[in-house]
Amino acid sequence: MISFVGAGPGDPDLITVKGLRRLRAAEVLIHDRLVAPELLEEARHDAQVIDVGKAPGRHGMGQGGINALLVERAARDRRVVRLKGGDPTLFGRLAEEIRAVRAAGLRFEVVPGVTAGCAAASRTGISLTERGQSSVAVFATATDHSGETALDLDWDLLARVRGTVVCYMTVRNLDTIAAILIAHGRDPSEPAVVVERAARADERVVPGSLGTIAGVARAAAVESPAVLIVGPTVRAATVSLVGLPALAGVGG
Ligand code: SAH
Repeated sequence: MISFVGAGPGDPDLITVKGLRRLRAAEVLIHDRLVAPELLEEARHDAQVIDVGKAPGRHGMGQGGINALLVERAARDRRVVRLKGGDPTLFGRLAEEIRAVRAAGLRFEVVPGVTAGCAAASRTGISLTERGQSSVAVFATATDHSGETALDLDWDLLARVRGTVVCYMTVRNLDTIAAILIAHGRDPSEPAVVVERAARADERVVPGSLGTIAGVARAAAVESPAVLIVGPTVRAATVSLVGLPALAGVGG
């Protein structure tokens, strides 16, 4: 039995009760780089804990290797937990792992988690939808598997969404993404925010507009992991939330 478990965005308290139960029962724990280290301490002392994450500049195991490892450990009747950052169903290559597990005839379940985009929204008091303003929220990544800006994305659609666009894996391509959205007709004065390391102790919030956000984020030296949120409801972002650190923006 394999449980794909969402670890949440970084605050160890943001895993679900069910996810934590699975984690504590695991005989084999296979995790990504972006999961909270505190969560790994919840594993049994005799559990095998395997890091398959890719650190920048270091090659991870590769997707094929991860798939093979999952199947191999679960086939030995071990209780396997595959712990993934945020929610497993978003930008986490869950489909590929599930295909491998299915092909091997193994049973699996998916335990959801708090995705980075939702964590970033809650930390800044942004409602991703709002009656009369935003009836759509889109989770997008504009970055393809090679790390480049995905030019085959339906940019027209993203630009036309009358609602909120949440962009993952954006830091490197923020300039391009903002420029393309504007070129496709999104208003450069629309409010935007970048949230770096949302829900972690060292979280930073960088506000701006679609037109300024890339420059502001660069000036603040924003690094991965971060999400970009663009949309009319971002205007409501508040800095008065309990525990929210000072805004990192410069002139946003
Ligand atoms: N499955 C994950 C996403 C994995 S893709 C989820 O649901 O959140 C990795 C991307 O997620 C990063 O490049 C970044 O855009 C985003 N991300 C992950 N953790 C984050 C965090 N704590 N704060 C901001 N963005 C985060």
